Amino acid sequence: MSHWGETEERLKEFKKYKFDTLAIHGGQHPDPVTGAVMPPIYQTSTYAQKSPGKPMGEFEYSRTHNPTRRMLEDCLALLEGGTFGMATSSGMSAVALVTSLLKSGDEVLCCDDVYGGTYRLFTKILGGTGLKFQFLNMVGDPTEVIKKAASSATKLVWLETPTNPLLKLIDIQKTAELCKKNGWILAVDNTFMSSVFQKPLTLGADIVMHSMTKYMNGHSDVVAGCLVTRDKALAEKLYFNQNSLGYVMPPFDAWLVLRSLKTLPVRMRAHETNSMELARWLSTHKKVERVVYPGLESHPQHALAKTQMTGFGGMMSVYLKGGLREAEKLLSSVKVFTLAESLGGVESLIEHPGIMTHASLPAEVRAANGISDNFVRLSVGLEHIEDLKADLEQSMS
Ligand code: PLP
Repeated sequence: MSHWGETEERLKEFKKYKFDTLAIHGGQHPDPVTGAVMPPIYQTSTYAQKSPGKPMGEFEYSRTHNPTRRMLEDCLALLEGGTFGMATSSGMSAVALVTSLLKSGDEVLCCDDVYGGTYRLFTKILGGTGLKFQFLNMVGDPTEVIKKAASSATKLVWLETPTNPLLKLIDIQKTAELCKKNGWILAVDNTFMSSVFQKPLTLGADIVMHSMTKYMNGHSDVVAGCLVTRDKALAEKLYFNQNSLGYVMPPFDAWLVLRSLKTLPVRMRAHETNSMELARWLSTHKKVERVVYPGLESHPQHALAKTQMTGFGGMMSVYLKGGLREAEKLLSSVKVFTLAESLGGVESLIEHPGIMTHASLPAEVRAANGISDNFVRLSVGLEHIEDLKADLEQSMS
């Protein structure tokens, strides 16, 4: 039985709804047995069969498919404007699942300011299996730089936009047009914007990926990832590989993410309101050299941010006046912000990419990318804005 058999059919009834409604109801119904309004956690590894090879229901084995996970996958597909969702055990397993489409000798063109873990997977693990990677600055017109770097071996273009941690934006639509012409797969890591503020599939991407550990789950209590595509042939391959590799999300985690998605639009709007105010306040602060936030007019790709995204998100980077000493003072003095890796939760986090999230990048790559000693990254949460400002003020003074 194909996992995808009735996916389009299942999603049909939801297509008329707007995003906020889909976040709450997408892919879900009250439980037909008990009437439970919230989806049950089908904490089972296997399913009874009536006779050999004839399952009692639609399900056979939970690596292959699980009802709770499938509700989440349908919800994700609806939120991304796609059809086929795959929920994975982490963001990294979602990245790895995309690269499982490739074979030795194939080449990936990747944007240069990519998440450190993605860079590590590409260079340290997959680089040793015969796949080739080029990391390119795709800011501006990405088509020129991609055309120059591409060869007959090129199979996949990997974008992360906004990039992590420099928040550079890459034009998805332009890249998608070039990829379509050349038959390359375009995958976009949409972690920073969530499904609320950016829709890569509607801009022409083939696959959208999330670390749902971040905004999609949004409560810093799950490690999770996903892929969504509209392309049935691609979905069949990805699903086959997901089942074969076992990159699947457990039912309890799927339930937690389903619960969290219900407030995703509300959370994202609140993240943005706080971030905008904090970014403006920090931009004029005497201890701050520069704030990088796509919502500020000073952001080099602010114009693209306004067309490609429907909001500016909750992530910002700050260059402090001074160096490591000033950064360390701030990072170790915060009380409302928590000094920690990760992002996208309801609580505000602060970190030092050079020492923490991006330490896996070689020092020369970090320096070339502008990840300097006075550079800190903020994930702005949903606490009261005055408490956030007061916390940064006392930590910098
Ligand atoms: N992509 C981005 C942009 C990230 O920030 C992260 C994690 O920080 C990942 C992918 C990897 O996701 P995970 O930690 O869920 O495996």
